[in-house]
Amino acid sequence: MAIKLLHPVPGAPVTARFGWRPAFTENGVWVPAMLHNGTDYAAKAGTPIRAMHSGRVTFAGWDYAGGGNAIKIGSAQYSTMFLHMQSPTKLRPGDHVSAGQIVGYVGSTGMSTGAHLHAMLQIGGQWVDPLPYITATPAPAPKPKPKPKPIPQEDEEMEPQFIAGKKDGTNGKVYQLTAAGKRRLVPSPEWTARRAVEAASGNKIPVGLVPDAELAKIPQA
Ligand SMILES: [Zn+2]
Repeated sequence: MAIKLLHPVPGAPVTARFGWRPAFTENGVWVPAMLHNGTDYAAKAGTPIRAMHSGRVTFAGWDYAGGGNAIKIGSAQYSTMFLHMQSPTKLRPGDHVSAGQIVGYVGSTGMSTGAHLHAMLQIGGQWVDPLPYITATPAPAPKPKPKPKPIPQEDEEMEPQFIAGKKDGTNGKVYQLTAAGKRRLVPSPEWTARRAVEAASGNKIPVGLVPDAELAKIPQA
């Protein structure tokens, strides 16, 4: 049987592998050797957990053996299980799960000292190391297409947006040319503010000077 599992938290590093942890003594208390029966991945709380394969939910709830919020997903020949999830999964036993589907979120519930995912694989009733079977990464969610930047029209760039009568210059009335080819009087406070903003970045707003007679021909907006 060829088992192919998807990475449950794409990009997250393995922090503890499956295997026996030797017995040790802590504060005079002997702690027996125990099997770390899954693979630990470090990931921030709230990171989506993805089903490693398709199947059906066979357990969804609190794991009293220390696993906290847990989910177990079974297929014909094997099962996988996730522990320490942030919150109970919304899935229920019997629900169909697709490979790569989000089934929960990384947390630190149960016997856990920090946010991580404990991912397990069970074959024939035995917990085995899932790592050698995790061969693929779920396809990343399609990125939203970047919006094309509007290409500034050359004409708009070249022609002055602001005009003023020749006699008055920039100290007099300044008009903004609208897209419709009309002139809009820029109120004095607005003009002062606009110039201050540009001046702060070392720029000067170009103002096209036209003879008063020509200015008069441009319709008012
Ligand atoms: Zn673990």
